[in-house]
Amino acid sequence: MLGGYVLKRKAALIGRRGYRALALESSCDDSCIALLEKLPGEVPRVIDQEKKTLNSVAFGGIVPTEAHNFHQSHIANLTSDFCRRNGITPSNPPDILCCTRGPGMTGSVSAGLQFAKGLSLGWNRPLVGVHHMLGHILVAKLSKSEQKHIPEPKYPFLSLLCSGGHTLLVLLRSIIDHQILADTQDIAVGDAIDKCAREIGFRGNMIGKELEKFVDSIPSDLKESFQNIRTNNSDNKFKFQLALPLRGPKHKKIPDTVTFSFTSFLSSLRAYKEKHFKGLEIDLLTKQFLAYKIQEVIFDHILDRINICLLKYGNNKKLYDQASGETIGIKDFVCSGGVASNRRLRQKLCADLNSKSLRSDGQNEKLTFHFPDISLCTDNAVMIGVAGMEIFEQLEVKSDLSVVPIRKWPLNEIMSTGDWIELQEEEFKRIMAVKGTDDI
Ligand code: AMP
Ligand code: ZN
Repeated sequence: MLGGYVLKRKAALIGRRGYRALALESSCDDSCIALLEKLPGEVPRVIDQEKKTLNSVAFGGIVPTEAHNFHQSHIANLTSDFCRRNGITPSNPPDILCCTRGPGMTGSVSAGLQFAKGLSLGWNRPLVGVHHMLGHILVAKLSKSEQKHIPEPKYPFLSLLCSGGHTLLVLLRSIIDHQILADTQDIAVGDAIDKCAREIGFRGNMIGKELEKFVDSIPSDLKESFQNIRTNNSDNKFKFQLALPLRGPKHKKIPDTVTFSFTSFLSSLRAYKEKHFKGLEIDLLTKQFLAYKIQEVIFDHILDRINICLLKYGNNKKLYDQASGETIGIKDFVCSGGVASNRRLRQKLCADLNSKSLRSDGQNEKLTFHFPDISLCTDNAVMIGVAGMEIFEQLEVKSDLSVVPIRKWPLNEIMSTGDWIELQEEEFKRIMAVKGTDDI
């Protein structure tokens, strides 16, 4: 009798499930879909995900109209196959829909967003229009295969978001309270890496990854010799100058606004090629040196700027809250976006910042670094699901179906778009109710 009860209870627990989100992402050149499940208050579980990427090699970069067409021709079939595979039907729809709303290429975002609105209407399920960069940051909450025992980052935390479109250092006090400590004044780090790698002779769809692989393949004794060659002027064996940006005598040590800047990497490289390799192929040793230094000095610049922010907004031991003037203890550092998949960047961040403490009590406690799994650093729909579910659950809102793409959408203006709708208590509770096997 008791055994029967235990078995039944066990079955109920095994079958216990939270609410499910179907997520779409299409802000650039990837059509992505994911299905996630989440028990209230817990970290979501990824059920399935898929991504189709536009091949832009022939164009030498992403062409917005090509990307728009790519999404338009792929999203419907991708979703149809995905839903079939995961048993999603009109009588068994997901509980909510999450879709990237911006920032991104308008046509690309629009293709996914309009499609998600149709699903929301057809399935009578709420839609959450998600900020793409919030997705990149919050995906670090998922358990990571290489950092299994590290708990999820807790607010307030610092985040370095480095992707093909953005380079930001952000202090997140809550899901919607974000202070941008540094932004790029020109192009994004991923864009700079891609353009520099192309100048050196790399081709491909994910050039940053190619560059990293190439640098990794340089024998370690050669790398060591490169490390000892200074490039702050051209007085070196390769006659190559690659200085840290924004560090000249005319720049304040601690500027009024801290920014990143990446265009000088490209202009230095172009000037060097023009002077020394005009119409010529770059020899292997020089290619290795250029690739090594470009990657290294770009990351040194990122570290340099983070350190300046820590000086400006605190004193290395603590950050000041601008509003209250009080100190804030930061324990977690999240590094996300496509460039965050670079192992050398991960290594340099840990080595450089790990010795510093941002704790308000001044204790020399190390930061805990959070690096999302490499497959989740570049654009994907899982991150949109994670952020959408957190918005839904914590703020109890959904998007009005009049939402349109936002090409430029500051991370600290997520809630000021004026088209969020508070959820009815009944709708929220119905969705959040933990479901048993019988309800599936
Ligand atoms: P995202 O915009 O987040 O999708 O990231 C794409 C950007 O990340 C592109 O500029 C890529 O070249 C860059 N990227 C991807 N993998 C790496 C890597 N391993 N090292 C450096 N950059 C990378
Ligand atoms: Zn992105």
